[in-house]
Amino acid sequence: MQSITIIGSGLAGYTLARELRKLDKETLLTIISRDAGDFYSKPMLSTALAQGKDAKTLVMTTAEKMAEQLKAKIRPHTKVTALDTVKQKLTIDNGDVVSYDRLILALGADPIRIAFSGDANDDVLSVNDLDDYAHFRAKLSDNVKRVAIVGAGLIGCEFANDLLSQDYQVDVIGLGETPLDRLIPVEAGEALKTALADAGVHWHLGTTIEELNKDKSGYRVVLQNGESFDCDLVISAIGLRSHTELAKQAGLEINRGIVVDSLLQSSAKNIYALGDCAEVVGQVLPYVMPIMHGARALAKTLTGEPTDVVYPVMPVIVKSTLHPVVVAGMIYGNEIDWNIIKMDDGIKAIAFNIEEKMIGFCLTGEIVNKEKQALLKELQL
Ligand SMILES: Cc1cc2nc3c(=O)[nH]c(=O)nc-3n(C[C@H](O)[C@H](O)[C@H](O)COP(=O)(O)OP(=O)(O)OC[C@H]3O[C@@H](n4cnc5c(N)ncnc54)[C@H](O)[C@@H]3O)c2cc1C
Repeated sequence: MQSITIIGSGLAGYTLARELRKLDKETLLTIISRDAGDFYSKPMLSTALAQGKDAKTLVMTTAEKMAEQLKAKIRPHTKVTALDTVKQKLTIDNGDVVSYDRLILALGADPIRIAFSGDANDDVLSVNDLDDYAHFRAKLSDNVKRVAIVGAGLIGCEFANDLLSQDYQVDVIGLGETPLDRLIPVEAGEALKTALADAGVHWHLGTTIEELNKDKSGYRVVLQNGESFDCDLVISAIGLRSHTELAKQAGLEINRGIVVDSLLQSSAKNIYALGDCAEVVGQVLPYVMPIMHGARALAKTLTGEPTDVVYPVMPVIVKSTLHPVVVAGMIYGNEIDWNIIKMDDGIKAIAFNIEEKMIGFCLTGEIVNKEKQALLKELQL
């Protein structure tokens, strides 16, 4: 049987490997990763402070144990620098060239960075993997009390929530007028904003950083709206961009991600893509649930049963424990009429399309737990 090579040891790479092993115990399986290859749950990076975990204790299974469990050869700290789709060969950063029969790109996404004026741009942290997290925690332990977060999306809000839980002073800067403005309706964003403000977040919305400079006690942040404040650490959480560089150099079709069809097959023979790096039938869905569904389908395809990925309704849960948020449905790129109900314990928002059909919902606060399941059921009908 033809061997399988996966590049990437994140949730996409390892979930696929697990699903493959459920169906096939024998095929030669190699996982190449530029990081340590330890298995961890990336969503926990933004809740680890409250859970008392650090970069070491976030590791659920070491690369060594993963290799045993998956009966796979794992090559950690190994970066693939080039891909030859004709000869079916990979170049590794130590100069080695290795062949593949079938290749899965599970390369993830890279944090988007903007260059701020001033002398402190290089000190701004992004937290997107375990190494970043170790660096972030080392910085936090360096007498940091005030943290500025650039970006009021899912990751920015979750880090704000987590830092508040440990009594840090948190400033959040966001371009939109409300947090999560690209994900949820304004009223829901307002509810989250108020709850986090009550807990201590200083919001700076509808603006961005004009200049960031070092000063003797940390950093001086000057905003475009004329405000300024001091902080000890700056985190950038303005979004992620699919990791497409390697595939692009190899001539694969790229759009916002590595373009794949419903079988997760790329434009090149014997190459598939899964996870944050992939654009599946026009959609980049950088979340855990699409990875789970994709991995299950791809494992079948690779073991001889071509299987299209079909996504059910997949809610996105924002882990802002001070005021939880859930959003689900076809609310992106559609004309939506939101029916907003303000309740004592949160916001209930139902999305209708122009035919007045319910196509999604958003809940915030206490009612997330009370109403989520019923609304998910209703949406699936
Ligand atoms: C802070 C945070 C919180 C999140 N919370 C949630 C949540 O609550 N719910 C949810 O659904 N989603 C959440 N997400 C998103 C979710 O975690 C991601 O969708 C998922 O982890 C992506 O997995 P992946 O395997 O595609 O990418 P990654 O985990 O980034 O893995 C990419 C892998 O590719 C390797 N790699 C890249 N380039 C090369 C190369 N050239 N050579 C060799 N190896 C390479 C990397 O080393 C890595 O092992 C969160 C994300 C973040 C950052």
